[in-house]
Amino acid sequence: MSHFKLSFSPLDLRLSQPFTIARGTKRVVNNVQVTITDGTLTGYGEAGPNARYEEDAETVMAFLNKLPDNFFDNVDGPGTIPNRLAHLSPPVYSAKAAVEMAWLDWWGKHAGRPLWELWDAPSATGPVTSYTIGLDTVDVMQQKVRAAAEFPIYKVKLGTDRDRAIIRGLREVTDKPIRVDANEGWTTLDEARAMVDFLADQNIELVEQPMPAGRTDDQRKLREYSPLPLCADESFMGHESLDAIAGAFDIINIKLMKLGSMVKARAVTDEARKRGLKVMIGCMIESSIANTAGAVLSLWADYADLDGHLLIADDPAMGLRLDEQKRVVLPDMPGLGVVLR
Ligand code: MG
Repeated sequence: MSHFKLSFSPLDLRLSQPFTIARGTKRVVNNVQVTITDGTLTGYGEAGPNARYEEDAETVMAFLNKLPDNFFDNVDGPGTIPNRLAHLSPPVYSAKAAVEMAWLDWWGKHAGRPLWELWDAPSATGPVTSYTIGLDTVDVMQQKVRAAAEFPIYKVKLGTDRDRAIIRGLREVTDKPIRVDANEGWTTLDEARAMVDFLADQNIELVEQPMPAGRTDDQRKLREYSPLPLCADESFMGHESLDAIAGAFDIINIKLMKLGSMVKARAVTDEARKRGLKVMIGCMIESSIANTAGAVLSLWADYADLDGHLLIADDPAMGLRLDEQKRVVLPDMPGLGVVLR
């Protein structure tokens, strides 16, 4: 096969509005854009490193700098590069995701077909995506909900000492379903139980990551108690036992930047479903490059939370789109179907 050249550069994404969750506030997100070219066709990828998982743009670029020059030589087929990446240690998952994404984009372009089609996806249309309302004063959160009136489902960030006031305030302005994401913010089982009791009659669709990751016993008890389905995000980075996750949660949030691989994410989706888990495909704050890759994965999922590219002011690419019902739709173009602006 051809000789490939990998290149990468910082991709600083400015947010339309400051974005706050239980762990802190962001105004700019420092991602890394990756390209792989054989001189004719170019594949695009993006790393969205997250400090929660001890990654940032520096660790991503250090990982990419260390990839050997011959990394893309002697390729037998589309699976060669994902296999090689899986064995690289120490891992920087968002960097691996970016390289694999660019590779699969190139491969799809080389084959002249969309990746979702090459992977036999059931259709080019995925689930409805939620739209995230970050933490702020109740007034501002109400304004954010009003400004996002076109979306049928909201994801609301909680995990504060004023969670009830936030939900009551939002219920003054919308009766649409809400997904709650506590981002590990409820630190005791009693607090988490009291919150799911409060949320149970508030038209809440699910509760994501109520308690800190690693608190599996408490999480299992919460699940036995909770009238609402519970979703694992920070509790599932990709290496944990799916059997253990299935004993403590109802849903699993799969993100490319946690797992480091679209190929692995596809396999985990199938394995999770075998254990009765429902699957959500989520994202970090990412441009349309990485979020289009996430959208491909969502074609096999029950839930999509793929609004990262909608939260940035200057999306450098076009790819996935949302239809009138806010379902995720993949472009009918070779590879990922991402076009740089
Ligand atoms: Mg989450």
